[in-house]
Amino acid sequence: MPIVVEIGTDMQDYVEFDLVVCIVRPDGCTYCLVLGQMVAHGYYLRKPKDLGRGWVIRIRRWKCKACGKTVGAVPSFLLFFRHYVLRVIQSVFVQRFELEKSWSEVNLACADEGMPAMRTIQRWCSGLTEQAPGWLGAMEKTLAEHDSRSSWLDAQGEAGHLSHPARALLKASLHFLAWAKGRWREVESYGLNDRLRFLWYWGNRQAGLTRLA
Ligand SMILES: [Zn+2]
Repeated sequence: MPIVVEIGTDMQDYVEFDLVVCIVRPDGCTYCLVLGQMVAHGYYLRKPKDLGRGWVIRIRRWKCKACGKTVGAVPSFLLFFRHYVLRVIQSVFVQRFELEKSWSEVNLACADEGMPAMRTIQRWCSGLTEQAPGWLGAMEKTLAEHDSRSSWLDAQGEAGHLSHPARALLKASLHFLAWAKGRWREVESYGLNDRLRFLWYWGNRQAGLTRLA
């Protein structure tokens, strides 16, 4: 299983400036947890899709000298198991779960000439619904430990009212980003459209989560 790395928001920059070379070597191995044994081990290719175009990008790979396993470093603007960039996937979630649009309205707002296909959009939405409880649990645990006055925890009522787990996750991700901004300077400039990208990076690296949708 790869790990998620934070290397900016933009596929164009990643490709044009070859940002893959800037990805920092992980301290330890995610499999055997031994520190200081990760060595560069080339690259592999992924072919992510954006609206109206496709990309071919290099993914950095590391190898653990202790256990021999390799691990890829996937930029936070891509999920594992999904071809489309997270920005497109997030726009679908916002339309469907926050704005409560019908499937055809979601399709109209988020697809370009029928791509992503309706069944792909629906698969993402059921994926998020399935995964949301795990992510909510991880966020709430962290907020309770580090920010017990968070308005999200305050308003457990609010969480209670948002009966749909995916809707609750989108809402909670805003409170979570607000907490993170007070904690890490790197995320100060992150806005509404970065919330799932931040959550994906955080959840993978801090909570070991490997699937968002
Ligand atoms: Zn190892």
